[in-house]
Amino acid sequence: MVHIIDGKAIAARVASGVAAQVQRLARERGVTPGLAVVLVGEDAASEIYVRRKVAQTTAVGMRSIEHRLPAVTSEAELLALIASLNADDDVHGILVQLPLPPQINAAKVLDAIDPCKDVDGFHPVNVGRLSSGTGGLIPCTPLGCMMLLDTVIDDFRGLKSVVIGKSNIVGKPVALLLLERECTVTVAHILTRNLPDIVRSADIVVVAAGAPGLVRGDWVKPGAVVIDVGINRIIDENGNRRIVGDVAFDEMDHVAGITPVPGGVGPMTIACLLANTVKAATRSSRDGSGCDADKMSE
Ligand code: NAD
Repeated sequence: MVHIIDGKAIAARVASGVAAQVQRLARERGVTPGLAVVLVGEDAASEIYVRRKVAQTTAVGMRSIEHRLPAVTSEAELLALIASLNADDDVHGILVQLPLPPQINAAKVLDAIDPCKDVDGFHPVNVGRLSSGTGGLIPCTPLGCMMLLDTVIDDFRGLKSVVIGKSNIVGKPVALLLLERECTVTVAHILTRNLPDIVRSADIVVVAAGAPGLVRGDWVKPGAVVIDVGINRIIDENGNRRIVGDVAFDEMDHVAGITPVPGGVGPMTIACLLANTVKAATRSSRDGSGCDADKMSE
């Protein structure tokens, strides 16, 4: 029988583990991890994401520092704020909510974040560490995908995995993490030929395409594990608004495990943000010496 991988329950376990680490940090080092969230402008979806992040940060006992800037904020102003957050010892994680308004170069802003505080894992130093398998902070959604896979797979070595989507925030880092576990990894994208045949050979299928119902039941071999990262807002045949993934969920009775949408990867993303923040705080508070290159490699 198909096993539904319950992202909500697993994320709750991760969050309670983080809460325990937060208490220990306070007890043993007198440190309360602080996560600064920067929101520029009034994008409705970003507002919702930020509100959820703030609520869950405080729920596990960490400090949430919110910076809401107007849509007309200049790049220089945002870079000045990042510099002040980098220098603030009470801030252990910095998250700049994307997208940013057009007058701001997002890559420049992400590059300005201290890699030790880069809890989104998007800074080139962390990207490089991930690709060389030398520690660093791992992007939240890919880390969440691996935690979900860990609940159903004991030994990844030699398993054939296919990642559909090659974005910097999901597809590529997931592929690198699977490679790190000694999987044989194929990365597919919009121009990949014979995608159904490629997927049919896989033991693990991770889909991050943003294409509703892309992966059909007859693409996936019996006993495979499917992680559906997609979040698509659709209007169904009855005229109702729904959120669906990139996988035709109802056609997956033969798989060994699958994440639902919603309730699969989504809840793991914020849980991993909390986990990254407590990790950053733990590193920087050890020996009271802040974070440096040596600590990053752990
Ligand atoms: P993106 O648009 O940056 O990249 C999509 C990738 O999928 C591209 O590499 C593209 O080539 C590939 N692709 C698109 N359509 C395809 C098709 N028909 N066949 C094969 N490949 C195809 O998207 P992203 O930021 O990586 O996000 C992907 C999806 O994951 C989106 O639905 C997004 O909303 C969702 N997402 C969810 C979370 C979460 O927390 N659950 C986090 C990030 C992204």
